[in-house]
Amino acid sequence: MDIFPRPLPTEPLIDPFARAITYLRVSVTDRCDFRCVYCMSEHMTFLPKRDLLSLEELDRLCSAFIRLGVRKLRLTGGEPLVRRDLMTLIRSLGRHIDSGALEELTLTTNGSQLAKHAADLYAAGVRRVNVSLDTLDETKFRQVTRWGDLGVVLGGIDAALAAGLKIKINTVALRDVNEDEIASIAAWAHGKGMDLSLIETMPLGEIDGDRTDQYLPLSRVRARLAQRWTLNDIPYKTGGPARYVSVAETGGRIGFITPMTHNFCESCNRVRVTCTGTLFMCLGQEDAADLRAPLRASESDALLADAIRSAIARKPKGHDFVIDRTRAKPAVARHMSTTGG
Ligand code: SAM
Ligand code: SF4
Repeated sequence: MDIFPRPLPTEPLIDPFARAITYLRVSVTDRCDFRCVYCMSEHMTFLPKRDLLSLEELDRLCSAFIRLGVRKLRLTGGEPLVRRDLMTLIRSLGRHIDSGALEELTLTTNGSQLAKHAADLYAAGVRRVNVSLDTLDETKFRQVTRWGDLGVVLGGIDAALAAGLKIKINTVALRDVNEDEIASIAAWAHGKGMDLSLIETMPLGEIDGDRTDQYLPLSRVRARLAQRWTLNDIPYKTGGPARYVSVAETGGRIGFITPMTHNFCESCNRVRVTCTGTLFMCLGQEDAADLRAPLRASESDALLADAIRSAIARKPKGHDFVIDRTRAKPAVARHMSTTGG
């Protein structure tokens, strides 16, 4: 008899640094209909479709994490809404919202397919989405996304708001691209009742350009915004790593996500799974665990739960991103679109 009985599968996931893992991000595809310059090179090689988890397998995987205590689930990619029949998965995952097991089901999207899906997302239990938008200038939008159309994305945002979804705009701060525009993006977002989160570029995956040319520290952005507006630090939290300020003049909030200038790892509550079922315990580290094999090895979820637990037991303390010209290679070889932003 085992004198140290194994913990019940419902025990929460706690990592070696006493952080409870309650937030899962799942990349449902590595493909995308855009080619943002900081995210992808123009000619990407994507995974063969046979390597991807099926929608049923993604459902099983997410449900296993929910049984282990995950309360917030974010679908991302690549562009999640370009995965065929994704709404089937979202509708199915909505049962965990109905049962109360999951507090939030959400997604990060480039907005290109939002007009088509907004009402269905709401009906499935989604209440908030993050939409990435780096500029409100049509020409610049085309330059940054290479393939995107600003008008379509703005139409998607309006459709989502009309459907009752709350939106947070994610903007990557890019030197020489949107540095002068950030205040107007904030004013626009706040005018529509949307929060804005600003993100620093991270050295993830090979791209065509030079990241040192793109990198814009948010400390500089914040200083510029503070010349124009009254920014008040507020304790507002959305379960993510953003530190928020409220803007007295607009009545809206701006979040700063600063992986490069400020390390936020001490409160990390999240892990990420790729569309092939690889679990990354940290966005900025290479260590990973394969969940596809245990998922496919048996119809019961016991092996899968064991694999998840032993991976969480190795979650590292944090990342150590550096962007500097002396490094020829990105800190992490895989793209954000693979791990899921
Ligand atoms: N396609 C969807 C979108 O763009 O929202 C979801 C996936 S995308 C990888 C998620 C987020 O990661 C986006 O807000 C994007 O701007 C951001 N992102 C991509 N590559 C990045 C990088 N190297 N550094 C910082 N943010 C990045
Ligand atoms: Fe696609 Fe999102 Fe990456 Fe842009 S940031 S290329 S929209 S995955």
